[in-house]
This record gives sequence, C-alpha cells and structure tokens, in this order.
Amino acid sequence: SQNLFETFAARMQERGDADFITTRDGRRYSHAAALAASARLAGALAALGVAPGDRVAVQVDKSPEAILLYLACLRIGGVYLPLNTGYTADEIRYFLADAEPALFVCRPAALEQARAVASETGCPAVETLGTDGDGSLMEAAERATPHDTIEPRQENDLAAILYTSGTTGRSKGAMLTHRNLGSNAATLVEAWRFTAEDRLIHALPIFHTHGLFVGCNVTLMAGSSMLFLPSFDADVIFEELPRGSVMMGVPTFYTRLIQDPRLTPEVTANMRLFVSGSAPLTAETHREFEQKSGHAILERYGMTETNMNLSNPYDGERRAGTVGMPLPGVEYRITDRETHEPLPNGEIGMLEIRGPNVFIGYWRMPEKTREELLEDGFFVTGDLAMVDERGYVHIVGRDKDMVISGGYNVYPKEVEQVIDELEGVKESAVIGVPHPDFGEGVTAVVVPEADARLAERDVIDFLKDRLAKYKQPKRVLFVDALPYNTMGKVQKNELRKIYQDIYR
Ligand code: ATP
Ligand code: MG
Repeated sequence: SQNLFETFAARMQERGDADFITTRDGRRYSHAAALAASARLAGALAALGVAPGDRVAVQVDKSPEAILLYLACLRIGGVYLPLNTGYTADEIRYFLADAEPALFVCRPAALEQARAVASETGCPAVETLGTDGDGSLMEAAERATPHDTIEPRQENDLAAILYTSGTTGRSKGAMLTHRNLGSNAATLVEAWRFTAEDRLIHALPIFHTHGLFVGCNVTLMAGSSMLFLPSFDADVIFEELPRGSVMMGVPTFYTRLIQDPRLTPEVTANMRLFVSGSAPLTAETHREFEQKSGHAILERYGMTETNMNLSNPYDGERRAGTVGMPLPGVEYRITDRETHEPLPNGEIGMLEIRGPNVFIGYWRMPEKTREELLEDGFFVTGDLAMVDERGYVHIVGRDKDMVISGGYNVYPKEVEQVIDELEGVKESAVIGVPHPDFGEGVTAVVVPEADARLAERDVIDFLKDRLAKYKQPKRVLFVDALPYNTMGKVQKNELRKIYQDIYR
C-alpha cells in the first residue's frame, strides 16, 4: 500500500527512544512513543466512527498531540483537515458545511460553540484536544483498543485537505494525496540535507502547509526532532538557537531577528540552516541577516496546492530576492497569462508548476479546478515570475495584484521597493483601484515610521525621477498598519475595497 504513514512508521520504529517532539515546558515524545500514541488515537477515531476516506476537521492550538492526531488520521486512512485557529464560529460553519467531516476536534474552551456549529452542519461527532495532553479525545485514546495496523491506501487517495490562506479571496480546500505529501517530504529531506541528527526550531502554526507539511513531514521522513514553540518569540528563539540546527520561518521572523542586537555569528553557531517562505523575503533582509549572523537564508517557494516547488540551493549561491530553482522532480514554466504559451527567459509571466507534488484539485470546486489545473498537468499558480540569466526564479507578485493602468502593466513590488527606500517609510502596499481615465489607478498605501512626518507630496516627488510615469502612484494614502492575515501576508483585496471610490 502507498499509505504515507507506512514510511513514517518505519522510520519512527527505527528511531525508537530518540526525541521526536519536545516543548519548553519539558514535555517530550520519542519517536516510539509517538508511534504508539498514534495507534491509541487511531483506535479512538475508529471508535468514534471515522472510516477510511472520512474527513477529520481540527481547530486546536499547537501541541504535540495535534501532530499525533494527524498521524492517527493517516494511520486509519482518514483525511486530515486542519483549520486556522483564528477562524470564528461563522467561518468554521462554512468549512464544516463544505468539508462534511465525520468528526470535529476543537479546543476544550470552544466545546459548546463547536457543538452548535456541528449540529447545524450535520457533523456527527465533536471532541476536544488541549495543549497539555488534555481533552476528551486523549481520554478516549486511553480507553481505546489501539489500532495497530495501517489502513492500506493508494497513492492518489487523499491524505489531507488543506485550505488556502485566503489572501486573495475565500479559502479553497486543496485535496492532497499520499503521493503529494510523501514525494515532497522525501525531496526536501534530500535537498536540504536533513538527517536524524537535526533539531528543528518549530515556531510556525501547524494548520498551514509550511509548519505542518514542510516542518513535520520532513522531520518524520528524516527521523529527526523538533522543538515545538507555541509561536514566534524572539527571546525564546535566542535561547534556543544554540540547541537547534534548522529553523523554518516566514519573513517576519527574520525581520524581527535582524532588529535584535542578540543576532550574532556566535548565537547561531550551532545552526546549519535557516529557511524562509510563505511570503516574499526582501533582498535587504536577506543581506542584513547574513551580515549579522553569517548565514545566508535559504528562500524557497511553495503553496498549499503544490507543497514546495522551487528552492535556493543548499550548496551554491543562495541569491537574495529569488526563490531559486525547481526541486528535483518538479517542472516549471513561465507563460503568457492568456494563452499559457511559454515565454522567452527574462520575461515576466504566469508561473506554472507540474510534478508529483501538485494536488489533485479543489474540494468540491470542479470549475475552479478546471481553470487552474491544466490538461497537461501544469497548475496555474496565480503568481507572476521571471527567470534570470543564471536560472534563479524571481517571484514578481500575484497576478491578481498586478495593476493595469492606461494599458500598461505595473508590478506593485517594483513600486513598493522604491517607496520603501524613502526615509521615514516603514512599509508600503501598491494596489490598483478603478480610475475613470486609466482603467486602474496606481495607488500607494504607506505606513510611516513612528516619528516620521511624511506628506503625499514627499512620496510623489521622491518617485518622480525614479520610476516611469505610468508606474507612479496617482494617490498616496497613509495608514498606521497594513492588513495582514495570520500567515503574515498583506491582504490587498481589503485595501482595494477600502479605496475603491477614491478616483470616482
Ligand atoms: P489564497 O490562495 O487563498 O488567496 P494564499 O495564496 O496566500 O491564499 P498559500 O497557499 O498559503 O495561500 O500561499 C501561497 C502563496 O504564497 C503563493 O502563491 C505565493 O504568492 C506566496 N509565496 C509563498 N512563498 C513565497 C516566496 N518565497 N516568495 C514570494 N511569495 C511566496
Ligand atoms: Mg493561493
């Protein structure tokens, strides 16, 4: 059978008493203990009526047991469906109605609300899971007959449904198979040189592809260990760096670390690798991190639908501002947005991806699936990219965020980079909003530094000689903060909504 858990289980057996997950408050699961616990939890799932192919929806705080639940789910052939801990009851209602899980696992404090939502959406069972090994599901696991066997699965059977981050619109459920997850984990272990000796500093959420599949599947595949931290806290990170070997982070982890005087070559001497992804890492942050720590961050590119696709090399130059080259087994092409015809190198176009890592479609969205998963197997990522003369891919931005002003394409990132150079600018977001003459008007939303005194005129004057006229913002608006979602991504659709009428 091609159940991904067979590979994991063999490795866990082999690694025995070696650490798998530890926490700062002294909790620990060895590989063998996690393997045994997954069997008890699988027994509990079976007793609750979860059958192969059934979805198990999970909205819980980060804990080792949440990963054991993921493993239990794989073991019995279920489909793991983690949900962002930030979702409200209304949002959960949508996901439960959409996914029709056989079981919903929630936080102990959310039980009452979860029961109400479950009954409205026809979900037959609700259990709780806390962060200290507590909750009704762990109690059920104690009583359950362990489910020691591993349910046979085919490579194209679902292992998980993972909802996208909802940066560009409503989240979509990406259907990921055993093959999708297994092939990508194996590829990353090789590409990033993971061994059983590694200790991953894990400060990411585990409801998203980065923290869950990249972080945990790679650890399981390599038989290594991870330190589970509830969230990113610079004080804690600096204490743990001397005991870690790898850290995976979103760009904000790195922008915070470089502002801290504790970032030195000494404190990172035991570390062998820092990975960044999920959102663009600026070349400036990359350089500053290297200057201060001696480590070149390895930036990679991936998404919920495809797992990881492109990565800077482990050996060889990690080029600031790029996401590197295709991972082994992954193909990419950069195409014309309308015709899907490949473009010559150096041109900006739609990034498309093909490989064993690419999902099989959006859950119950056949139309959307047809639009984005082409007949020849390429997935249309929605990101614009270009490849440089040395074969490194640059992500230019999202297709949906590109501004077409007076018939010209304006790539927001290019404009934002120039605005950010202006003294007194903390960060910026460039968007297109309806404009009576230009179709869309280039519009800059700027967050000034705390003590800066900036006016619209200052920004416009600064850009005058630095950008072609058609790229220059017609208006500059100041805000205290940009709208970020939980994955640290700027939600430009929110901004477009707020400013939709400024040119009318
Ligand atoms: P939704 O699809 O619901 O709008 P989302 O695309 O943000 O949300 P994810 O699957 O979590 O959901 O994120 C994938 C996206 O993140 C990619 O399409 C890309 O835009 C961005 N991304 C990931 N890694 C990088 C990177 N290294 N550089 C730039 N962008 C990145
Ligand atoms: Mg997306």
